[in-house]
Amino acid sequence: MKKLLTIAGSDSCGGAGIQADLKTFSAHGVFGMSVITAVTVQNTQGVFGVQDISPDIIQRQIEVIFDDISVDAVKIGMVSKTETIKTIAETLSKYSIQNLVVDPVMVSKSGFHLLQLEAKEALITHLLPMATVVTPNLPEAEVITGLEINTLEDMKKAAHIIYKMGPKYVLVKGGHLEDEAVDILYDGTVFTYYNSPRIDTKNTHGTGCTLSSAIASNLGKGLSIVEAIEKAKNYITIAIENSFSIGKGVGPTHHFY
Ligand code: PLP
Repeated sequence: MKKLLTIAGSDSCGGAGIQADLKTFSAHGVFGMSVITAVTVQNTQGVFGVQDISPDIIQRQIEVIFDDISVDAVKIGMVSKTETIKTIAETLSKYSIQNLVVDPVMVSKSGFHLLQLEAKEALITHLLPMATVVTPNLPEAEVITGLEINTLEDMKKAAHIIYKMGPKYVLVKGGHLEDEAVDILYDGTVFTYYNSPRIDTKNTHGTGCTLSSAIASNLGKGLSIVEAIEKAKNYITIAIENSFSIGKGVGPTHHFY
């Protein structure tokens, strides 16, 4: 059985973060492990607080896993602050990581800053160069590049700039574009386009976490990057179709194979 690790934050209401990652791993038939970077106080209506886990405990969680277990793929989600990012990058660099998906989580749909503003530079400097693939949505791609993104051409420019920051592949997710929901993958030479239907639901909590974990699962199983993303896109589309309300606010997506 393939073994997957998520390094991310806890979402107490279970739709995003570590909880979404582990559910996605299970649904893909891989064994999920977790290094928790922060605990959020969260329900479907918003994020009401955060407790960061100390860098020492994050470092030791990573070390005991890699010293003991061979890990087929790693996904990094919420990393909170500069010190956390530096610790994760330094600790992971001691090991050979097969497949690393970096989801540059910044602001929740409810508007809470899951990444402190001043930590953006650390994410760019320390995590992006290690990534097999980085998966920004449009607002995240705008923050990383400083570009305003309104068109497919803007998305391609952003992918190019992010590619130069060091990841092997860049997936810019166009779900926030008005006209068409197209995602683009860039490998430094070729653009691959992924079209998907826009599904009309308010229950999209945790879609970014779920997609990046699905990509990591597929890479861990040995799929090519193009295939890993294609399958992950199918997975998230069905998960959004099956999304449902669990509270008064934005509900989670849901999918089991
Ligand atoms: N909480 C945690 C711990 C997360 O990692 C994320 C997203 O990455 C979110 C909340 C935000 O989820 P959403 O913006 O889909 O509501």
